[in-house]
Amino acid sequence: MDTRTAPAARAIDPDLARALVDVVGGPHLLTEPDVVASYSLDWTGRFRGSTPAVVRPGSAAEVAEVVALCRRHGTAIVPQGGNTGMVGGGVPLHGELVMSLRRLDLAGPVDGSTGQLSAQAGVTLAAVQSAARDAGWIYGVDLGGRDSATIGGNVATNAGGLRVVRYGDTRAQLLGAEAVLGSGAVVSHLGGLLKDNTGYALHSLLCGSEGTLGVVTAVRLRLVPPAPSRVAAMLGMRDASAAVAAAQALRRTLPSLSAVELMVRAGIELVCTVTGAPPPLPDPHEAYLLVEASGATDPTPELSAAVASLSGVQDAAVALEPARIAALFRYREAHTEAINSLGSPHKLDVTLPNAVLADMVGRFAGIVSAVAPEASVWLFGHVGDGNVHVNVTGVAPDDDRVDDAVLRAVADVGGSISAEHGIGTAKRRWLGLNRSPTELQAFAAIKRALDPDGIMNPHVMLTPA
Ligand SMILES: Cc1cc2nc3c(=O)[nH]c(=O)nc-3n(C[C@H](O)[C@H](O)[C@H](O)COP(=O)(O)OP(=O)(O)OC[C@H]3O[C@@H](n4cnc5c(N)ncnc54)[C@H](O)[C@@H]3O)c2cc1C
Repeated sequence: MDTRTAPAARAIDPDLARALVDVVGGPHLLTEPDVVASYSLDWTGRFRGSTPAVVRPGSAAEVAEVVALCRRHGTAIVPQGGNTGMVGGGVPLHGELVMSLRRLDLAGPVDGSTGQLSAQAGVTLAAVQSAARDAGWIYGVDLGGRDSATIGGNVATNAGGLRVVRYGDTRAQLLGAEAVLGSGAVVSHLGGLLKDNTGYALHSLLCGSEGTLGVVTAVRLRLVPPAPSRVAAMLGMRDASAAVAAAQALRRTLPSLSAVELMVRAGIELVCTVTGAPPPLPDPHEAYLLVEASGATDPTPELSAAVASLSGVQDAAVALEPARIAALFRYREAHTEAINSLGSPHKLDVTLPNAVLADMVGRFAGIVSAVAPEASVWLFGHVGDGNVHVNVTGVAPDDDRVDDAVLRAVADVGGSISAEHGIGTAKRRWLGLNRSPTELQAFAAIKRALDPDGIMNPHVMLTPA
């Protein structure tokens, strides 16, 4: 696979290696080239880095010792969770040491009376969801990478996903965090008080900081009551404009709405080809809307009434059984893998203001073909949040013309160049499209204060000092 490849990393300083082994134990400092290579290539296949070593601390105390050692040796660190990030932020593209958090894998306990869960950073999202479910609650964030993505990575990227329209993003679930800052200081605020206006919300700042300020080691999460009755419908829509208008209407007319996802004909056909799934509806449609409603009581009548009031619906398949609902969601979730099967994509995950959303969905193919006629464009996304994933295949990993054209067009209409994946290294060049020079100066000042030597993910989000 063609990738944006970094030069080989320099070997680790032997003094640092010995000191790291003293902290984490020999088996948890990985230096074998074949082994560390798997930590150096990102999920999309677009970003291949190189690292002298992967260190795997087993506790927050070990994380703190490792950060202190790296600071003393002037060694940059890339924190890594499940390595499912999409913007090249979790792989060592400049020869950094990788710190894998996956050994911090304790989920729980759940405080059943408040509906809160504590978890260490390396716990997968799926394990968090399962611990919440076992205790009679649910965790409101869900996304396709759930079996590998870690809760620390979700916090670091402020992950969004399928149910933001109902429960909000990761930041909305985060009540507190424990972290080792780049300075080596350990900050911990895990009491879980719902109302707590005692100064700066450091956990909110760390959320979305992409490993640039410190390493998240544990979190306290808000859970929500279960919504055991679910129904999903796959709507075949006249066109993408009608699908966008319908999604916007459903937010108002369907109080039990828990997900609304946009897909288009080409994406559905690709998913069917790659996965072997039958088409979701007997005839093809230019656009598809996957709608889920859930609640304590059966939301089917409410969903039916809301769908009946929409215009542009050409056909619908309704699912009530969990297995059938999962099968409908599979059409949406399989987009990521199906597109990856064509080669490493450029993943441009953007948010658009409501007023221009439909128009922009119609314009993306033209914006891309104007600079790269050979490229293919794949559109899908969490359209209820204004979030569209513009995926582009058929362009070289280091050819940024398409990224530049799409991100500028999005910023020009008041959209965000990163809805949920973060800035990473992939979008750093364009952060100034959304953030003013004064904001970027404030970001740099925060970075200097919490990470004075600039060892935490120095090439991510901000230009290195
Ligand atoms: C199939 C699929 C579907 C996806 N769907 C969605 C979606 O719907 N919505 C969405 O938002 N994302 C989605 N993603 C992207 C990805 O899953 C999220 O960005 C996720 O939050 C990354 O978690 P991770 O543990 O894999 O982090 P990594 O990829 O390991 O790291 C991501 C970033 O976080 C930093 N980081 C990781 N752990 C820590 C830590 N403990 N402390 C400090 N910094 C840390 C890294 O340095 C890096 O900058 C999807 C991915 C896949 C593969």
